[in-house]
Amino acid sequence: MRAIQLLAWIVALGMFLLPWLRRRALSNDRAVPPPTDELVKDPVCQTYVARSRAVSRQGPEGPRYFCSDACARRDA
Ligand SMILES: [Zn+2]
Repeated sequence: MRAIQLLAWIVALGMFLLPWLRRRALSNDRAVPPPTDELVKDPVCQTYVARSRAVSRQGPEGPRYFCSDACARRDA
């Protein structure tokens, strides 16, 4: 009788803990940062630069990215 009570307790604990563990696993997956540092193409010299290191200028169709200030100035 005692063993059955213990088993029921373990099952109840498992049913309570499993969704919690699954939520933790999912939130850990989401914590992995997406690759935001993509390569952008300099329209002046056609060089690819990481967006975080690129020189950005606001153009008519959105931001434009250049490898250097010199290229940004050459963009008409
Ligand atoms: Zn350039």
